Amino acid sequence: MTKKSPFVIVYHRQPYEEAVENGKVVYRENKSPNGIVPALKGFFSTASDAVWVAWKQAPASGKPNFERTVRINASYGEYDVVRLPLSAEQVKAFYHVTSKEALWPILHSFPGKFNYGPVDWKNFREVNRLFAEAACEQAADDALIWVHDYNLWLAPYYIRQIKPKARIAFFHHTPFPAADVFNVLPWREEILRSLLACDIVGFHIPRYAENFASVACSLMGAERAESVPVEGPFSPKGAALSEPTVTTALKHEGRTIAIDAWPIGTNPRVIDNHLSNFEAGTRVSEIRSQIGDRRLLVSVGRVDYVKGTKEMLEAFDRLLARRPELREKVQLFCVCVAPADGMSAYRNAQREVERLVGAINGKYGNLRWNPILLSTRGVPFEELVCYYRAADVCLVTPLRDGLNLVAKEFVGAQNGDAGVLVLSEFAGSAVEFPEAVLVNPYSERRMDAGLDQALNMTEEERRDRLEKMRERVRQFDVDHWASHVRERFDALRASTNKAEAA
Ligand code: UDP
Repeated sequence: MTKKSPFVIVYHRQPYEEAVENGKVVYRENKSPNGIVPALKGFFSTASDAVWVAWKQAPASGKPNFERTVRINASYGEYDVVRLPLSAEQVKAFYHVTSKEALWPILHSFPGKFNYGPVDWKNFREVNRLFAEAACEQAADDALIWVHDYNLWLAPYYIRQIKPKARIAFFHHTPFPAADVFNVLPWREEILRSLLACDIVGFHIPRYAENFASVACSLMGAERAESVPVEGPFSPKGAALSEPTVTTALKHEGRTIAIDAWPIGTNPRVIDNHLSNFEAGTRVSEIRSQIGDRRLLVSVGRVDYVKGTKEMLEAFDRLLARRPELREKVQLFCVCVAPADGMSAYRNAQREVERLVGAINGKYGNLRWNPILLSTRGVPFEELVCYYRAADVCLVTPLRDGLNLVAKEFVGAQNGDAGVLVLSEFAGSAVEFPEAVLVNPYSERRMDAGLDQALNMTEEERRDRLEKMRERVRQFDVDHWASHVRERFDALRASTNKAEAA
């Protein structure tokens, strides 16, 4: 592309699935029509000459064995994808080790799991610099460059060096921890210096924005320039992650950095459309008839200690021990997707889940009934939503989670036979769903009480709670998130244009 782009998204994953068909490389839409990648691609429907920068594995030396840039013409519009070639060693050090073993535990407030030993920070810096250079090669001088997630924390600093006039936005898909935990990172000033080179830094919920503001002020001498009462989809009081006010702008070294907190939504229309298909209806009936008169509980997530699957399984074990009348009357469908090879950070978590499921099934199961059906393979989204529709209870009980889309998808997929959402107070989405049965996964008693409440709830109460949550899922859907972000970007462009004209 000779013309420089006004809008560049930098996200480590490619926005499609690459496959070989009849010896030819083809680029297919992602299997899941929900989630962050489709949400970001939606931005290309209104942007021309847009570019997406991602990485792709290449041999350690010599020319990459693929085209660096591919043109995608999809339902979302036409755009270029630039693939930054990274060697297997670079990916391992940057992603599997530094990101997952050192940064991830801190982001999720697990300082005990912070593994400093194997970190190669020089490599992390270098990969971030390469991403920044790849983005800048494509971008016009005043382009809006939107960088995603903590593994590219250092990219804004390098972008600002190369393109001082660029408008740099950053979005965190994870939690941002309190200063006491964030400060464990030995690279904290370098990370903050980079984030403060942005024009706008985004988070899912006000608590994470506040945590960031507090770190920026205490470590870097930034000042709060504006704070506002929390409104919109959030319940500002009473939950573990609630905040009554949120900082919306910081001042640092003569620059203003806007802060934004707005949770990504799900796409309830995609879910409705799918569930109104004849095939999906048949599948839901099939699942229901397999379950019979049992109550179906579902739990869906990745293998990851932050997801609290172990604690959820222990609560299910206690439930069956405490209430023997429920044996053969409940069925837990647990999807716990195993990570890609090489992610040693999650190996123990997977072993523990498999061990517990085996132990619980062995303890209570018989030839007619296995209490838990476990899948460590991913379930296609279309199949998942059938389970969500068929389920009586959805257990979303992470110890910590940036947001959690499964909670929103379950609410979106439910209808008449209102199901119950049991939701951890430490999932970002808890501040949007005060009507869920909120539980503290660190407390056995609270988990037990939450399960009992969910299983004993009257139909009237279930319907009432679900209707309120469904309303919020419909109103604050993925399009609402996108239009909120677009407004923030328009305001950013207008304010920087005004400043340049002055
Ligand atoms: N998902 C899926 N198949 C699976 C497990 C999960 O399609 O077997 C999808 C799920 O529907 C959701 C996403 O993966 O859209 C997980 O997002 P979430 O925010 O819950 O968790 P994350 O993995 O991003 O921490």
